[in-house]
Amino acid sequence: PYNFSAGPATLPEAVLQQAQAEFLDRRAAGASVLELSHRGPEFMQVAEEAEADLRTLLSIPDDYAVLFLQGGATTQQALIPLNFADPGQAADYVLTGHWGATALKQAEPYVMAHIAADTSVDGYRDLPARDEWTLSGDAAYVHYTANETIHGVEFRDIPDVGDVPLIGDFSSSIAAEPLDVSRFGVIYAGAQKNLGPVGITVVIVRRDLLGRAGQPRAPILDYRAHDRAGSMLNTPPTFNWYLAGLVFKWMLAEGGVAEFARRNARKAAVLYEAIDGSGGFYRNTVAVDARSRMNVVFSLHDDGLDARFLAEAKEAGLISLKGHRVLGGMRASIYNAMPEAGALALAGFMGDFCKRNG
Ligand code: PLP
Repeated sequence: PYNFSAGPATLPEAVLQQAQAEFLDRRAAGASVLELSHRGPEFMQVAEEAEADLRTLLSIPDDYAVLFLQGGATTQQALIPLNFADPGQAADYVLTGHWGATALKQAEPYVMAHIAADTSVDGYRDLPARDEWTLSGDAAYVHYTANETIHGVEFRDIPDVGDVPLIGDFSSSIAAEPLDVSRFGVIYAGAQKNLGPVGITVVIVRRDLLGRAGQPRAPILDYRAHDRAGSMLNTPPTFNWYLAGLVFKWMLAEGGVAEFARRNARKAAVLYEAIDGSGGFYRNTVAVDARSRMNVVFSLHDDGLDARFLAEAKEAGLISLKGHRVLGGMRASIYNAMPEAGALALAGFMGDFCKRNG
């Protein structure tokens, strides 16, 4: 079967096999990886390798800290204003879908949240032109969502916001293609789409920003404290960290992010062709240049066919295609671990279903 879930998402088969083999293996360390102390040498090595591999994979410059945290991407959306903005300071938000709006909500208690651009009136189907953004000028940072997982809208280029730190939510597109990390103040991503299992979140922070005073907060909400403690201020989610580390090694062995960019482009092209070539049977209303390469959203011309489409897809081994409840319709998430054969199988099924029901 091919699993098109938006997250938790499919994991590489090779990683699951390795994890299965190591799960009950107590020979090397005297304990399974689940049972190891996070402070012991065996797990410290797992953690250090994971960070080193992620740095290699994403070409993360040395003046950036890499944190492995809990709380998911949503918690980071609340921690970002607490750590990087003074109380009441302006912070700019660019809304291109559901998750940008969520980030804004999480920040509102702590900052003068300013909406710099917002495409909701058109149903989040295009990206706002950069020259139409209204930036505050004195903002602590500019936040945007690189890929909107629900609305299927993705930035192709890194927006230029001058000297203001740019903060990018890359939850659903990190490691999908090469990225110039040095253009960002902060990049954050929940792991459960492209990096591994749910339960661990990667935060990449330019070190000078860790020197900002921010707002009164407990140490557990303080990125600086997490950095000083090597992301082990409290007990970290060791198994998730280990699994993410296996995924990083797998991605490196497969050829790194440049190779995934090529594969992802081909997978997305196959599915958008299946939609656009269906004579209106399937529809995607996102502006072509803004279409996500990770989350392909589409609807059937008659939503009365949705249940049949989903049932027959499932029978054909194509699961989790139901769109998010906010949008309805269908969504095929094709992250790094989705093989090209999966996208081809779905496109084939879509063509066949259209013939039989068109
Ligand atoms: N941001 C984006 C782009 C997402 O896709 C998601 C989850 O799907 C989130 C944030 C929220 O992540 P979490 O559930 O890890 O808090």
